[in-house]
Amino acid sequence: MKRRDVLKGAGLAAAGSSLGLAACSQPADSPSAQARIEPARADQPVLNWKMVTAWPSGFPGLGSGATELAALITRASGGRINVRVYGAGELVPAFEVFDAVSRGTAELGHCAAYYWSGKSAAAPFFCAVPFGLSAMEMNAWLYYGGGLELWRELYAGFNLVPFPAGNTGAQMAGWFKREINSVADLAGLKMRIPGLGGEVMGRVGATPVNMPGGELFSALQSGAIDATEWVGPYNDLAFGLHRVAKYCYYPGWQEPGPTLECMLHKPAFEALPDDLKAVVEASCRAVNDSMLAEYTSRNRAAFETLQREHGVEFRPLPNDVLQALRAATEEVLAETAARDPFAAKVYASVRGFRANARRWSEVSEQPYLQTRGEWA
Ligand code: CA
Repeated sequence: MKRRDVLKGAGLAAAGSSLGLAACSQPADSPSAQARIEPARADQPVLNWKMVTAWPSGFPGLGSGATELAALITRASGGRINVRVYGAGELVPAFEVFDAVSRGTAELGHCAAYYWSGKSAAAPFFCAVPFGLSAMEMNAWLYYGGGLELWRELYAGFNLVPFPAGNTGAQMAGWFKREINSVADLAGLKMRIPGLGGEVMGRVGATPVNMPGGELFSALQSGAIDATEWVGPYNDLAFGLHRVAKYCYYPGWQEPGPTLECMLHKPAFEALPDDLKAVVEASCRAVNDSMLAEYTSRNRAAFETLQREHGVEFRPLPNDVLQALRAATEEVLAETAARDPFAAKVYASVRGFRANARRWSEVSEQPYLQTRGEWA
């Protein structure tokens, strides 16, 4: 037996006994035995990588998605890449993730591209554009519509390699202390809403502010803000936003299907052998998919809880409000494209994709969802 095989066999037996499994219940070469976690092989160097995130450690959905991704890379690489996750503020603050991974302080970052509009006006297009693409369409644009190539081109200039690595699905317009019956009700409204959505809100008379998620409850309670958007029922219920604001409005026009990102320090990614590059890429793709499934399931359950147990009233934003927001969005996007050539290129790509996607959706998803009805 080669030395490597001896080590591999010993590792499997140890893993089996620590998990309380009968190590000899399957032949060592059966597919399921092969699939068990193996320690890094002695002839392969172990890379101890840091993943910094924009989320509090273990935060439901976003933080747990980062943890899942780190564990998946570690397991799928057989321990050759050993990833340790640092929540926001543990190694670097949330809004310094981009710089930390860019300079190689950490090899990986899990966050959202719309936090980086200060680095490039094009960055938010890779997370969420108001009245833009749904979660399914974001994936279609990124993987099959040229989006990911543009994203890689942009981030290469910052020594980064980006991968889609999560999606919350359609968000809510947010929590409001007062009813919104017309555009006039937005005048002077202090609302926490980041990114392009915040710029749009500013155009229709509101005062947008940004603050980390952890401060939303007390800011709403104290009256420092009148309204906030966050994510949707699953995360919003956890923060207790329903206890300090009576009305939850939909739809989440500002974030119809935001993509989260995993960014890698480019030299670290490029130094990987091909099989480990594939491990990183496939792990990001798996988490991109599983986070959306998790949000879809947990939002559905929390939506029910908020209505039945907490009497929350979910309301649609009035049409004139949505029309004003849509018109302001077009202004903001046109101005963003006018001041940044790369943003113009990305906007043209999203715009073209969205036009076809909208027409296709009108004869596929949209009429189906409208027509499927109740099951008795
Ligand atoms: Ca949001």
